[in-house]
Amino acid sequence: MKSELVLVLALFLSVNGKPLSERRTYNKLLLISFDGFRWDYDQDVDTPNLDKLVKEGVKAKYINPPALTMTSPSHFTTITGRWIEDHGVVHNLMFNDTTGLRVPHKATLKKSEWWDNGVLPLWITAQKQGLKTASFYYPGGGVNYSGQAVNRFLVENHGSPDDNETEWQQNIDTVMGWFAKEDFDFVTLYYGEPDNVGHAVGPETHERRKIIEQIDRTIGYLRESIHKNALTDHLNVILTSDHGMTTIKNATEVKEIVLANYISLLKLTRFDLLDYGGFGMITPREGKEQEVYNALKNAHPNLTVYRKDELPENFHMKKHARIQPIVLLADLGFNINSRLILDINKGDHGFSSEEMDMKMFFRAFGPDFSPNFLAEPFDSVSIYPLMCKLLGVVPEANNGSLSDTKGMLVDNFDAGGSSGRIQVSFTLLVVSTVILTLI
Ligand SMILES: [Zn+2]
Repeated sequence: MKSELVLVLALFLSVNGKPLSERRTYNKLLLISFDGFRWDYDQDVDTPNLDKLVKEGVKAKYINPPALTMTSPSHFTTITGRWIEDHGVVHNLMFNDTTGLRVPHKATLKKSEWWDNGVLPLWITAQKQGLKTASFYYPGGGVNYSGQAVNRFLVENHGSPDDNETEWQQNIDTVMGWFAKEDFDFVTLYYGEPDNVGHAVGPETHERRKIIEQIDRTIGYLRESIHKNALTDHLNVILTSDHGMTTIKNATEVKEIVLANYISLLKLTRFDLLDYGGFGMITPREGKEQEVYNALKNAHPNLTVYRKDELPENFHMKKHARIQPIVLLADLGFNINSRLILDINKGDHGFSSEEMDMKMFFRAFGPDFSPNFLAEPFDSVSIYPLMCKLLGVVPEANNGSLSDTKGMLVDNFDAGGSSGRIQVSFTLLVVSTVILTLI
């Protein structure tokens, strides 16, 4: 009798070759970011695949980006769960206000010194806890953190086309191969659209609607691909973005903001980051801060000027050394021009994260997400603790809250989650019964 009991126990404990205590497994996770996908972009286009996801997964009404609604700062908030003043990626450009250095956005994607400011992104934390992670074009995924690189990463090539649908599908094939054949646990995948189209022609256009249809087809392709790779029951997917987009007002409608009309930039300023939409920063020359501030403070009715130390607390920006002494924020749709009106972009972002046009899109599906769940709006910092929970990773200190998102998960997630795990519990029940019978 005793030997039979030992045999049954041994058989049970050796399922999957792991002892019982380690057998809690977590599903894989894919985070996809569509740059500049405003929360409501699916509402004026036919999107059958996204519509299906509303029934089969989670939709948030919208989510709030960090106060600085720009690509690198916002993506890095999502992957670290930290506000901008904590993670230090305060602009799309890498810059040095002492030397005057400015590094264009795509070149920053390979510069560790811009991203590695002592806050670890999820890839690295997950790797330290034994998971295998990868980044496909996601901002911040191509550099080292405390000397450690993401297990596998691809960095977007300069000038690579952002809207090639065949390439979008190939990228999904690549990522599915990483999950299915190489057992990666966590992958981030980035697409540069619909941001490019939104900038080029504006958000309220036929071209923007066409690119949303293309994204919708790509999501259909993703779901087929998940199925073909037998990942349906093992892969959770979060679809989100980094900020929205609004139509830029031009001189025929409004009086545009041109700072050179109010101050001599040459005489009063040492460094600036201007002409990037609705957000700008200035470092005045020695002793000129008050003069710059006074000259700009009431210069234009649609321009708000802050001294760094008077930035509102809820911007979560002022603590970081890279934020310059004068910060400018324009009202929705107003570009901050330095000297000339360049009028290159028909659409832009960088405006207050409280504006509905800046809000981000959020969807999720997979074995651990409840079907047909409509989530209330939440801050994008809270995506990080959600991802940690899904992956079974102990999070770093972060500014997010799991209470924002835990309602999205299936009821029995903490007990073991998806069907595969319920089966394990069922096995446990059967084995227990057998053991009791034997005794
Ligand atoms: Zn962006």
